[in-house]
Amino acid sequence: GFRCGIVGLPNVGKSTLFNALTKTAAAQAANYPFCTIEPNTGDVAVPDPRMKAIAGIAKSQNIIPTRITFVDIAGLVRGASKGEGLGNQFLANIREVDAIVHVLRCFEDDDITHVEGRIDPVADAETVETELMLADLESLERRIVNTRKKATGKDKEALAQLPIMEKALAVLNEGKPVRVAAKEMDAEEKRELRGLNLLTSKPVLYVCNVAEADAAEGNAHSAAVAKMAADQGAGTVVISAAIEAEIAQLPEDEVGDYLEAMGLAEPGLDRLIRAGYDLLDLITYFTAGPKETRAWTVGKGTKAPQAAGVIHTDFEKGFIRAQTIAFDDYVGLGGEVGAKEAGKARDEGKEYVVVDGDVMLFKFNV
Ligand code: GDP
Repeated sequence: GFRCGIVGLPNVGKSTLFNALTKTAAAQAANYPFCTIEPNTGDVAVPDPRMKAIAGIAKSQNIIPTRITFVDIAGLVRGASKGEGLGNQFLANIREVDAIVHVLRCFEDDDITHVEGRIDPVADAETVETELMLADLESLERRIVNTRKKATGKDKEALAQLPIMEKALAVLNEGKPVRVAAKEMDAEEKRELRGLNLLTSKPVLYVCNVAEADAAEGNAHSAAVAKMAADQGAGTVVISAAIEAEIAQLPEDEVGDYLEAMGLAEPGLDRLIRAGYDLLDLITYFTAGPKETRAWTVGKGTKAPQAAGVIHTDFEKGFIRAQTIAFDDYVGLGGEVGAKEAGKARDEGKEYVVVDGDVMLFKFNV
């Protein structure tokens, strides 16, 4: 599954947010009990109201959402790239995630110490980013020597990697994260770049942790973060960790009223996950039957056999075809039977690119 690492300076609200996200009732409204895979790692159900609509029509006994894993990566301090504090462990943990959720303190509260003694989320982001850039710079400078040598010897892999490494190095030397270089790369170059597994090339979602009163509209701090994020090609979400913590303690039937009182349409978790999906270019397809309606996550552009492979490798190996019904058709035509009668249940083959919301039934050889 996909893993998001929560990072940020101390005392910005990381743990509060992590605990709220992984303990909230909605996150566990699944047949899977909440499971702690390892300390500070939590699996969260991806909220998606389409599941309920499908399950109602398919008369499914169960709804099984797709999951996303959050890892609370503590231990960042100035000097982490030099191995200060828990620096090395911190960097190793970041290397293992698909995306970074970077929590920034956008709330004023004199009772809660800020490590730098002032509220300035853009400067905080730079502090964290600097450590990551220094770590990338060091690792790239080390690796590029060897790649240059190999490229001179016409090694194919090195010839493909070298221009990407040079671009990444140039951007880092300008004091910018590698993801800035990715903005001008084509798909093939981006694939090479991902292979380098640099810390600052990972997608970032900035979470502006604001006071309760600012949760609906944000504030001047979160606006400054949004501007910075846009310049970098990163995403932003405004969240009040305090509100999320409150929601996590409420019985499910009281959440709606509470959100309304706070002027919010939905929990922060929903917005955070949606923003994460957009950032990672992920989509959801569904399988539906009397036993269960289930959501599955794949990358945008995934073809039918590989999408089937997410369920089971045998589905991919023996793939024949996929009966595919668009979500709107499935719901609008009353499910599989109605969609078939209306000619909206398509038989798609190996080259079909899955669309977000597709309700799919795979035919395969065993
Ligand atoms: P971490 O060090 O980044 O994990 O931060 P914590 O989640 O432990 O939070 C540090 C302190 O800030 C705790 O006392 C929290 O209760 C408090 N805190 C977290 N989020 C908010 C918030 O949105 N508003 C206020 N006023 N305090 C918060």
